[in-house]
This record gives sequence, C-alpha cells and structure tokens, in this order.
Amino acid sequence: MQPNESIVVINAGSSSIKFSLYSGAALELTFRGKIENLYSGVTHFAAEDAQENSIGDRRWPDAPLDHAAAMAYLLEFADSHLDGHTVVAVGHRIVHGGVHYSGPQRLDAGVLAKLEQLIPLAPLHLPHNLAPVRAMMALTPDLPQVGCFDTAFHVGQPAEAQSFALPERITAQGVRRYGFHGLSYEYIAASLPQADAALAQARVVAAHLGNGASMCAIDAGRSVASTMGFTAVDGLPMGTRCGALDPGVVLYLIEELGMSVAAVQKMLYQESGLLGVSGIASDMRTLEQSSDPRARAAIDLMVYRIGRELGSLTAALGGLDALVFSGGIGENSASLRAAVCADAAWLGVQLDGVANAASGHGLRRISSASSRVAVWVVPANEELMIAQHTKDLLEPA
Ligand code: ADP
Repeated sequence: MQPNESIVVINAGSSSIKFSLYSGAALELTFRGKIENLYSGVTHFAAEDAQENSIGDRRWPDAPLDHAAAMAYLLEFADSHLDGHTVVAVGHRIVHGGVHYSGPQRLDAGVLAKLEQLIPLAPLHLPHNLAPVRAMMALTPDLPQVGCFDTAFHVGQPAEAQSFALPERITAQGVRRYGFHGLSYEYIAASLPQADAALAQARVVAAHLGNGASMCAIDAGRSVASTMGFTAVDGLPMGTRCGALDPGVVLYLIEELGMSVAAVQKMLYQESGLLGVSGIASDMRTLEQSSDPRARAAIDLMVYRIGRELGSLTAALGGLDALVFSGGIGENSASLRAAVCADAAWLGVQLDGVANAASGHGLRRISSASSRVAVWVVPANEELMIAQHTKDLLEPA
C-alpha cells in the first residue's frame, strides 16, 4: 500500500457503526469514530484523529439515520478529511462466516447472498453487519470490500471442541460450536509474542470481556476451544445475554410458562446477564459504583463463571502459561481482574496488586514476578486486525 492509500474499517452493530481509517504500509491510524443512535433517538456522529482530538461532531435531531444514510454521511465526511489520501478498500467486521468462510473474503453480491442465509445463526448481529456492506456496494460499486469473520480464528479447533453431542443429521446442517470474538483473539495471539517471545508457544486463556464476553484457549497462537458456541449467547454471562444455559430451561419457558419464541429470544439476549441478575444495569461501571447487593450478586456471578470456564479451558490446553484480559471490562476493571485472579490462585496465578491497580492504556503485564502464570492486559484492537486482513487480501505476498 502506498503512503497516501487508506483502508476504512467498519464495525457495525444494531444501533451504531464504529469506523476507523488506516493509512500506508504500516497501517497508521488516521482517524476513528462512532455513529450512535441509528434508527431511534438523536443520531450522533463523532470522529477523532490519532491524537484523540475531535475532528467531527454532528447530531440529527429531526430524524434518526439508518445504516445506509449513516454510511453515506461517513463517506462524505471521509472525502473531506482524507487530506490527499485515497480509500482503496473497506474492511468489515462480520460476526458469522458459517462453515464456508474460514478467512477474510472479498465481498460481492454472490457472497452477500450466501452470508444472508446465515442470518438465523446470528439474528441480532449479522443483519447489521451486512447493512453497511450493501450500502457501500450501492454507493461505491468499484471499491473493494472485504469481510473479516469473528468465527474464522476458531475454524481449526479440534473436532471435539466444535461438536455438540447431537444426532449427526443435525450436526450435518451446521449445528455446531463456532466461537466468536475471533478477531480480538487473533490480535491478542499476534500481540503477545511481541511483548514476550516465549508466549508464541504458550498455553494462553484470553478473556474478552465487554458488553459481549467470551473466553478462548489459545495453544501456540491457535484457538483450541472457546466459551461461545453456535451463537454468541453461549458461555459467560454478559451485559444482557445469559451465557451458558441448560437447554431444558428454554423448553420450560416455552412449554410451561407459555412464553413465545420471540419473548424467549429477547429475554436470553437482551434482558439477562448483568442486567437481568442485578435488575439495575448491564454496564459494569454502574454496577461497580452501586451499593445495591443485587449489583454485587451480578458481578460475583460473572467472576464465578469466568473462574469455572478458566478451569475448563485450562483442561483443554493441558495447562496454563498465561491469562489475558481484554475488552472494556477486562482492560479497565482492576477489581474484576483481582477477583478472577484470586479465584485462580490454585492454577498458579499471582497478581501484582500495584501493577493491576495502576491506570494504563497499553499492553501490560500485571502478574507478580514469581507468578507461575503470566497475567497480561491486552487492549482489544479488532479494527487493526481487519485493516491488516483487508490489506493482505488486496496485495497477497
Ligand atoms: P463492546 O462489547 O460493546 O465493544 P466494550 O468492550 O466497550 O463493549 O465494553 C463495555 C463494558 O466495559 C461495559 O460494561 C463498561 O461498563 C465496561 N467498562 C468500561 N470502562 C470501565 C471501567 N473503567 N471500569 C469498569 N468497567 C468498565
């Protein structure tokens, strides 16, 4: 890539689009930002440069934007802030690649149609990931677009890690464990050896703890097991998602409590997790600041489940050399990290209390010098991973 060429990265959710622009062969961050409150409320656009200075702020008080209108505005904004750069491609974060897409993929109408068939596997995420792709295809048909899948990093997991104990005819229809947050884990797997070369061969459990939360067992840089399964509702309790659940509960809710499938879906995805248990909020900061015992109970349950999954993933790895925290909670909540590490003392985890409590932004080690398991904080950077994949696909080595 030439110094004046740039890649736009899009990470679109149901009501927001995060965007960033990376330039030149080194993929330097040029600007980034977020469009929030799509479809309802007052849509808000905010962008900042690499030094975190605001370079754009706009609101739409009359009517909210949809994905297509937001993408059109973003293109217009990018055009006037490119400063001599040319956008050569757009990379998109896409939650699900199904069984067919195991790596970054150039997107065209045919691929888009195949991805649309996967919507039932990720009904709350995939339609929103695909909406900007469709909008960009209409606005700039000649600009290459690349899809990067959250499932891709997990594709090489051993067969038993990918299987449910269901009849083969169901498995054959793609009902299996996929795993998500793969771009975040891939970034972690790539970053750790830069901090400590020995970690390239290590057995690592990484916890991506944000509004969505999962954990992944990484052996010498490769995913071998993860807590999320067929959909992104499995595994840990999250902001509003329940995490692992006895499937009998779903049957009970429908058969005995008379809930509709739509009501069950809404409950499991939007009304459970930290929000459901606390009855207060899905946001960890709010819960940590609350003196309500229900807030404490919600946090305690999350910590407990992280500990249980840590044991399970360590078993999948046959041991543990490093534990990594990432995502909004993992990067920022020193108290949650301390609680998880205290529970994991049996594995040889020993935190350095001062390093854990110190406010820091970058990749950092927070375990004591004598800890058998190294503990790291790695700030999530799925966007850079997407930019890298997009660049590599456009200019193969
Ligand atoms: P998403 O999964 O939507 O990308 P993030 O990774 O940004 O979400 O994580 C959001 C979560 O991180 C929220 O629960 C938020 O409260 C939590 N968080 C952010 N900053 C802090 C902090 N300083 N202390 C505790 N939790 C925090």
